[in-house]
Amino acid sequence: MIGNGICRNLITGAAGFLGSHLVDRLMISGEKVICLDNYLTGREDNLSKWSHSSNFQLIHHDVTKPINCDVDRIWHLACPASPTHYQSNPIQTSRTIFLGTYNMLELARKLKARILFASSSEIYGDPEVHPQSESYRGSVNTSGIRSCYEEGKRIAETLCSDYQRMYDTEVRLMRIFNTYGPRMLPNDGRVISNFIVQGLNGRPLTIYGNGKQTRSFCYVDDLIDGMILLMNGDYSYPMNFGNPQEFTICELACLIRDLINPKLDLIYEPLPSDDPLRRKPLISLAKEQLNWIPRVSLEKGLLSTIDWFRDFLEECPYQSD
Ligand code: UDP
Repeated sequence: MIGNGICRNLITGAAGFLGSHLVDRLMISGEKVICLDNYLTGREDNLSKWSHSSNFQLIHHDVTKPINCDVDRIWHLACPASPTHYQSNPIQTSRTIFLGTYNMLELARKLKARILFASSSEIYGDPEVHPQSESYRGSVNTSGIRSCYEEGKRIAETLCSDYQRMYDTEVRLMRIFNTYGPRMLPNDGRVISNFIVQGLNGRPLTIYGNGKQTRSFCYVDDLIDGMILLMNGDYSYPMNFGNPQEFTICELACLIRDLINPKLDLIYEPLPSDDPLRRKPLISLAKEQLNWIPRVSLEKGLLSTIDWFRDFLEECPYQSD
């Protein structure tokens, strides 16, 4: 904390989807923010509105390399998060998660800073227990195409927990379920961005498999509320954050189609391997500990996401391929 009581924050992956929304919140609260990003999936444009602020600093940096800076809190979000991106170079994904988390924990230990790690519902793998509570230990394939991310997030949680036990490092472990909203990359392959971009371009929406698999979608503003509450709170064990309303992928496709153009076609494509069949968070822990629950309905969140994509694609139509 600097003299005037202003908190100094380091955010890794700050130019990405979640990172940039977090930066906005902290900047609006008048805090100091140092942003790191290697722009693999982040966009400098997401942060450009802050570039002239004296509270803001943006550093081009890859978290697999150590860095020194003086901060009170570290928000460690850096890692490609969509299956398309994290699978495009899986060895790099494992390196980013392991080395990035190690480097940030070392920094947190030296500075006695608090660190929040953006973990994931992917640590549950293809769950045999439904819905998923924090006590469920997961069902993960160690050698599949999603393993770099799933196992990466698991070992990173382990590292955080061991730093906590060995060095009293203050850790916060946030298990993030599917999240969507403005600033998702149009080509990141995730279901909501794919369906919206396809729909806005008048193309059929591509349902993988039979579309009966389920997900639960949380709007980004709700998620960032939870992230800030978790960082500021006392709870230091893993905690789920997501919207517990569960939808099949077919239901989602119909909803997005109807919001964009009810005449759009739906087509079926093969299901990728290891694609989890069902996913829905139990969030009673976040509710009890932090009084957090998501507030934005899927329809409302989709409408604002569609509006954002409409503007974005008008400005950069080449981004939709
Ligand atoms: N999916 C789909 N069509 C798409 C993209 C994804 O049907 O164009 C499916 C995908 O197979 C999965 C679900 O939607 O069952 C969620 O996929 P996403 O990549 O968004 O997230 P994750 O699988 O990591 O939850």
